[in-house]
Amino acid sequence: MTEMHPKVIRKEVGKLKKVPNLVDYASAKKDFSYDAHKDEIELFVDEKMNAAYVAVDRHLKTPVKKKVALHIIEETGTKQPTFADLAMLSNKFANVLVKHGVKKGDRVFIFLPRIEELYVSFLGILKTGAIASTLFAAFGPDALFDRLKDSGAKIVITDTTLKDRVDNVRSRLPELEKVIVTGDFNPGDGELSYDKEMDSASDKFDIVHMEPKDRAYMLYTSGTTGKPKGVVHTHYDIIHQHLTTKWILDLHEDDIYWCTADPGWVTGIAYGLLGPFSNGITSIVDARRFSAEKWYKVINDYKVTVWYTAPTAIRMMMKEGADIAKKYDLSSLRHLASVGEPLNPEAIWWGLEHLGLAFHDNWWQTETGGILIANYPCMDIKVGSMGKPFPGVTAAIVDDKGKVLPPKTEGNLTIKPGWPSMMVEVWNNKEKYDSYFKDGWYISGDRAWMDEDGYFWFVGRADDVIKTAGHRVGPFEVESALVEHPAVAEAGVIGKPDEMYGEIIKAFIALKKGFAPSDELKADIQKFIKTKLAGHAYPKEIEFRETLPKTRSGKIMRRVLKCEELGLPVGDTSTLED
Ligand code: ATP
Ligand code: MG
Repeated sequence: MTEMHPKVIRKEVGKLKKVPNLVDYASAKKDFSYDAHKDEIELFVDEKMNAAYVAVDRHLKTPVKKKVALHIIEETGTKQPTFADLAMLSNKFANVLVKHGVKKGDRVFIFLPRIEELYVSFLGILKTGAIASTLFAAFGPDALFDRLKDSGAKIVITDTTLKDRVDNVRSRLPELEKVIVTGDFNPGDGELSYDKEMDSASDKFDIVHMEPKDRAYMLYTSGTTGKPKGVVHTHYDIIHQHLTTKWILDLHEDDIYWCTADPGWVTGIAYGLLGPFSNGITSIVDARRFSAEKWYKVINDYKVTVWYTAPTAIRMMMKEGADIAKKYDLSSLRHLASVGEPLNPEAIWWGLEHLGLAFHDNWWQTETGGILIANYPCMDIKVGSMGKPFPGVTAAIVDDKGKVLPPKTEGNLTIKPGWPSMMVEVWNNKEKYDSYFKDGWYISGDRAWMDEDGYFWFVGRADDVIKTAGHRVGPFEVESALVEHPAVAEAGVIGKPDEMYGEIIKAFIALKKGFAPSDELKADIQKFIKTKLAGHAYPKEIEFRETLPKTRSGKIMRRVLKCEELGLPVGDTSTLED
């Protein structure tokens, strides 16, 4: 019997469903160097490279060529391109781009739902040496305009359902030369039909050889804390994505892997495309609207083995109740991972109980280009911790003056610059880029602490940490305690200015099905936190909400709660969910 609420989940490599790719964290860390793994990503003989070649075309020499790269589940059917298909189609698309004047360094943006053309065009863009970017398909015209304007995009690839939104802002985008439209489409001025162009394009293309540090793609951040930043990444990122996919997500050649992140965000690119492709792994893409039942069915039908998702999705599944899960066979699952937001212990325990496995939390950012801190299959999980730095990555907790702090002290979560997937630019904003680097460290903007065993624990975004009656309280800790209350589905916690205490803790709570707001429930929740956590950390104020404001990638936007509470303007809302 598994204990219901273990604080530590012990691992014994021999008892796991499969021997993990990384069996011993400590020894891997001891003599790790990226250079020693360079062969795994196959640079060209001139020491140049192209991430699209690493991800796809190099597999043409091996049996991976015939493997399905993606099972794309659309509302109306499925598509199953192999690695060879993607190599050939992206060659064609690269030819289309070159024919229409795309050159190294040009920005080419993809504004598509999760369809095959998205993957093909991303790879095709990389092959030409241009800079690829994706825009989440739910973006409205304003969000679209901001990003296309800021980046000076030359070409946008979209479909007939989304094209209106591009048309809406096109007259204000003088640098946008062409709009390529997928599906059944008759092009007008400045427009091209994807299908027609592809039909007449050659499937041979000389992939452009790039310097490892040449720019490959740029992605805008999630906008959780403010205006999204256009973060630029290089071809060489893929070495880190390749190795972290292998050691942290633990993908093996026969895995069926499902990364639920949309390719509009960095997780969907780094771990929904570059990392798994480079490892030659078959992935699932579900292009349909979320429902817990559909998701369980995908795992059941496709025998998914490795599942990389986000706390918001896990909480949604928890909210729907576990009865639906019981209808499906989920026994194919072998390894679970989560990213994007703090993973509440409650979510881990839920996974243990209903999926028989623990979610492995990991931490990174758009700016970091890949996972930097993680829980590994071979390593004990301390429930609530983000785990330990990837071998080759140095993380530390430093104070505002750049002094490294001892274990068990809260401070800035910082990284030693120089890991291969570190951003190289914030588009149009050198000042912003420079502001990340101080005293020889990359400052993440998150607050955390490290324990005596080297595990890192998330406290909150620097801006979200609450100062109440002389104490610093991390919203994550309070939110995690709140969701352990049987009535609470989701919680967002802020500091509300208060004359007496500096700030008081206010919690916004969405209830589980079958619970109704009441003063008694408020009092009960407050009592629950007081006894669970600490007297000073309980929310003096509680407000029940139907839902909490979230980014389109599912992160709770505490700044929106705070601005609403204080009657202040909310700022950039381009990534706010409807
Ligand atoms: P913006 O930078 O525009 O405000 P964002 O920070 O949400 O948006 P992302 O780069 O998508 O944009 O997210 C990175 C952030 O997500 C991290 O800095 C951290 O705050 C949070 N995060 C990611 N993974 C974890 C995790 N495992 N635990 C806690 N927080 C996490
Ligand atoms: Mg950020």
